[in-house]
Amino acid sequence: MNIAERCVVAIDYTLKTADGSLIDTSEGDEPLHYLHGGGQIVPGLESALLGKAVGDKLSVVVKPEDGYGLHRGDRVLTVPRSSLPEGEEPEVGMQLEAVGRRGEHIVLWVKEVHAETVVLDGNHPLAGETLHFDVEVKAIREATEEELTHGHAHGPDGHHHH
Ligand code: ZN
Repeated sequence: MNIAERCVVAIDYTLKTADGSLIDTSEGDEPLHYLHGGGQIVPGLESALLGKAVGDKLSVVVKPEDGYGLHRGDRVLTVPRSSLPEGEEPEVGMQLEAVGRRGEHIVLWVKEVHAETVVLDGNHPLAGETLHFDVEVKAIREATEEELTHGHAHGPDGHHHH
């Protein structure tokens, strides 16, 4: 079986930046299960995995535009602390959720905290980074109907529910 749309794939992976610092790894943990074609992993990695089989190992260099996007200055904004949700004590690195003008779901990271203001960044923390993945394909199976409906994988057997 080769990786294609509507497959659930288990991968072991290590993700590093261009300068070699470790961002994330599945080592010492369960492999990552994802629904191929579901947009659960960055587009550059998903397209590199297409057609691969169990046991295949690959090193993939993903450019920012095929990863978490380019860093956009217009997504960084300074807001008064009072505009944050009630009871929310802002800390650098904290994630806030907001609803955009077209009703879309936006995630904002707290970048700086000042006495009166907070700097929020709508870019993903890895925006602008070239991503270096080392991946091994551990398992491939057909997605269940439920997984296809939900648009994501449900773990090793397809029944484990989030
Ligand atoms: Zn689900």
